Amino acid sequence: MRNVVAAGADIIHFDVMDNHYVPNLTIGPLVCQAIRPHVQVPIDVHLMVKPVDRIIPDFAKAGADIITFHPEASEHIDRTLQLIRDNGCKAGLVFNPGTPMHYLQHVMDKIDMILIMSVNPGFGGQSFIPEALKKIAIARRMIDESGRDILLEVDGGIKVDNIAAAAEAGADTFVAGSAIFGKPDYKAVIDAMRAELARTGR
Ligand code: ZN
Repeated sequence: MRNVVAAGADIIHFDVMDNHYVPNLTIGPLVCQAIRPHVQVPIDVHLMVKPVDRIIPDFAKAGADIITFHPEASEHIDRTLQLIRDNGCKAGLVFNPGTPMHYLQHVMDKIDMILIMSVNPGFGGQSFIPEALKKIAIARRMIDESGRDILLEVDGGIKVDNIAAAAEAGADTFVAGSAIFGKPDYKAVIDAMRAELARTGR
């Protein structure tokens, strides 16, 4: 984690999978707590967990700065967003490739981040689903119309050769896992991504 921050990462994105909401099992609050003292950048916890409410205070205590969840994983979206904020974190909703965007309509005032999945959640190393670009554009319009300060993140299959397309669609925050960790030189990848973003003027 220290190496990737030294290489220029702005945020640590932390994927939590529960073998129930998604078919895989990853890491929990103890690992978040273990990482926290080693990085000064925000930790962005992406909960692929159902039910979701019980674990939120644990991640807040473990040092999360941002917590996002999937609307399908919460019985009461408004309450879950408020729970995250009450625990001192920024809150966001995550949209799978097949999840409609209407979940945002009545909760924009409680949203700090919108995360568009460009793969189906559950595994790293999948290929980018181009339909996600349309959803990024929809989310961009909703954010601009709201006039609120909301991050628009894209997660899944982001690489040097498609980060510009995601930015042009309106994303401003980019999750890259295997694109960075699969290469020996993290800085070379992050620099190449920044060069691509500079080319788009965003
Ligand atoms: Zn994620």
